[in-house]
Amino acid sequence: MSQSKNRKQQFLTSNPVCCFCGGVSPSEEPDHVPSRAFFTNRQWPEGYEFPACVTCNRASRHDEQVVAMLSRLYPESSNSADSAAIEKLMVAVSRNYPEVMEEMLPTLRQKRNAAKKYKLELQPGQTHADLPLLSVRGPLVNSAIHSFSRKLFCALYYKHAGQVLKSSGGIAVLWFSNLQIDEDKIPRELGNVLSGFPKLERSRTNLDDQFFYRWAIADTKEVAVFLAFFRRSFAILGYVHQQADRFELPLGATIIRPFQAE
Ligand SMILES: [Zn+2]
Repeated sequence: MSQSKNRKQQFLTSNPVCCFCGGVSPSEEPDHVPSRAFFTNRQWPEGYEFPACVTCNRASRHDEQVVAMLSRLYPESSNSADSAAIEKLMVAVSRNYPEVMEEMLPTLRQKRNAAKKYKLELQPGQTHADLPLLSVRGPLVNSAIHSFSRKLFCALYYKHAGQVLKSSGGIAVLWFSNLQIDEDKIPRELGNVLSGFPKLERSRTNLDDQFFYRWAIADTKEVAVFLAFFRRSFAILGYVHQQADRFELPLGATIIRPFQAE
């Protein structure tokens, strides 16, 4: 058996259950969450491999590609390999999921409104049409973020609670664009609650400028909260509960359930 095959087998032996579908399917493959496409040179953080069944591992590929692309837009990279990777992602999304690209291109009116609302200043010689804005409030982008959030929070819950989010569980998700983060829309009081800081690195290179989160978990492990940042592009807040029907919902949140295995 080759070394990597051996390592994979060891991983699946010590993580025998898929962490994305309620704890009822055996694990068959390691899944990287967030996927490697989120990271410069595909250098993902050590320890962010999760046990998945084949169905869950394949389930959200196109959605993950959309979210990875969004995550890499801000800050604009000056590194040419990075820019090439982002362009490649955009081409892939346009090919795999053309409707979502179309949905994200704002009209001139939307650009004008956004400029006014967020007090964006035009540079000399720039018109509103030139503003590098993407509209991220359409239903397809939202559904991509939600689908990615299911993976993300099932994974983080598994990592920090040491157990799978059960089929009865749920995740209440709220997300914030870079403009909303700048506007201070993330609830301040979370700062006092989220005392967990993970170590996100590979070969001692720190990766938290690309992906970073803070977390807290109840002693009973029934409830957990995570706030994850993706570069300076957006943030996702996830409240995880082992009993989805016991949620007290934060305003505007969407409830997402683990994949329900058939
Ligand atoms: Zn599964």
